[in-house]
Amino acid sequence: MDAYEVVIIGGGLGGLTCGAALTRRGKKTLLLERNPSLGGYQATYKRSGFVIEPCLHMMAEGGPEGALTRLLEHLALKQKVRFSRFDPTSHFVFPDRTVRVPKEVSEFVSMLKGMFPNEAAGIEGVFDRMNRIAQDLGESPETSPLVAQYAPRVMKDLLDEFTREQELRAIIAAYGTYFGLPPSRISSLLVSAFTASVVFNGAFLPVGGIRTLVDALEETIRGHGGEIRESAPVQTISVRDGRVTGVLLESGEEIRAETVVSNADARTTFLSMIGREALPENLRAQLDKARPMCSAFNVFLGVKAEGLGLEEMAPAICLLPDYDLDGQYEAMQRGDMERNNAWIGIPTLTNPFMAPDGHHLVVLYATLPYRLAGISWKDKKKDFVERMIDRTEQAIPGLRKNIVLVDAATPDTLVRYTGNMEGAVAGWECSPEVDALRPPNQTPIDGLYLAGHWTAPGPGTGSVMQSGLIAASLIP
Ligand SMILES: Cc1cc2nc3c(=O)[nH]c(=O)nc-3n(C[C@H](O)[C@H](O)[C@H](O)COP(=O)(O)OP(=O)(O)OC[C@H]3O[C@@H](n4cnc5c(N)ncnc54)[C@H](O)[C@@H]3O)c2cc1C
Repeated sequence: MDAYEVVIIGGGLGGLTCGAALTRRGKKTLLLERNPSLGGYQATYKRSGFVIEPCLHMMAEGGPEGALTRLLEHLALKQKVRFSRFDPTSHFVFPDRTVRVPKEVSEFVSMLKGMFPNEAAGIEGVFDRMNRIAQDLGESPETSPLVAQYAPRVMKDLLDEFTREQELRAIIAAYGTYFGLPPSRISSLLVSAFTASVVFNGAFLPVGGIRTLVDALEETIRGHGGEIRESAPVQTISVRDGRVTGVLLESGEEIRAETVVSNADARTTFLSMIGREALPENLRAQLDKARPMCSAFNVFLGVKAEGLGLEEMAPAICLLPDYDLDGQYEAMQRGDMERNNAWIGIPTLTNPFMAPDGHHLVVLYATLPYRLAGISWKDKKKDFVERMIDRTEQAIPGLRKNIVLVDAATPDTLVRYTGNMEGAVAGWECSPEVDALRPPNQTPIDGLYLAGHWTAPGPGTGSVMQSGLIAASLIP
């Protein structure tokens, strides 16, 4: 049996970032990934000349002063991974108007004030408040009175302080739809942090695709003497007298380690890999009570560019059937794709290499519950694909006749490829009550740490990478 200082379970961005930080410190590290390739939700694949990034529409904090850029600088990867900023940042397509989110926040605020002249003070106030929350979350989350004030509050509470104008409220809260909860349920901290980050500092994608980031992290690990084994699923985490001693692979191989970091789904980590009886009572209760985020239905379309005018569009477009985000959430619960909101990504506007010449890739994303009453994803996949294409035609007329490739990922696909419980898009549900149950990076089991979207600080690629750094920093 080999012995390692650290074994990392899972090669998603959380596990890879943790591995990069640890190997740079000289830790003897082994990363075990159950799939044949690395990346988790950020793994990419090729189909008929198109490069598909199934789980990426935009990244936050990729600007010169952004948290993601600083994180990459910390890992000496700033030169290897560069980001391209969207311009415009997004389009929100309502039935009666398209709201363009321009690159400059001042332009956006002026535009909204022009659209809602009676709400000028509220518009200034709400963006200022969200931005201050975002700054405090980045700099001093534990000591910030603002963070403490808004931690138990939902986005509706924050909106109520600044405006009662329903159309304006939907525009301000629209970025929250990515996370599959409506203003009445979603954390005001999360929506503030994400919206302020994107509206003030921009939305980004890595130049050359997300593969450049995954590859750079892999090279860092291997380059500093770390080992990576793909197709190596872990079955159990061995624990003796309350302390981890290593892992057992599904193949039967045992590997000793002083420390284990799990990047896998939190319930799988604690309840399957360790076992309920070995857990403290409060952790068991926490895991039973916390709910995963909803899942998503995804369609990937290769299209001929001719005549579609995609070059005039934003790389991220939100389709909103009306101004009632709570109503859209109810529709989502019923699987009503026509009344739910959805996102369209056009990654080839940033990375043309992802499609053959004269073509674009159009990625459709709609949040959905993992289980829809009476529905088997296998049987209904085709039907959902068609309904999503119909829906997208409203924003991109002529789309259907230009399609040359159709692929799709159902909630079951997300589970199958990554093991994420119920195909959850980004870990735990983003409500204040579930966020309070989020297990921290250091677990009650001696020598066991967590990295990824099932632990702190939270959802999204940047936060997931941050969690990898935090876990690494906690390991003595
Ligand atoms: C459809 C979709 C769209 C998204 N869009 C965006 C977006 O636009 N922007 C954004 O920032 N975020 C987006 N996200 C969220 C983001 O992709 C995730 O939050 C993030 O990639 C999760 O990284 P992770 O490291 O926590 O976990 P994962 O990517 O889930 O990685 C976990 C890894 O652990 C491995 N593993 C699991 N069990 C075992 C085991 N027993 N043994 C060995 N290995 C194991 C898995 O195979 C996987 O590789 C999206 C997610 C989805 C599903």
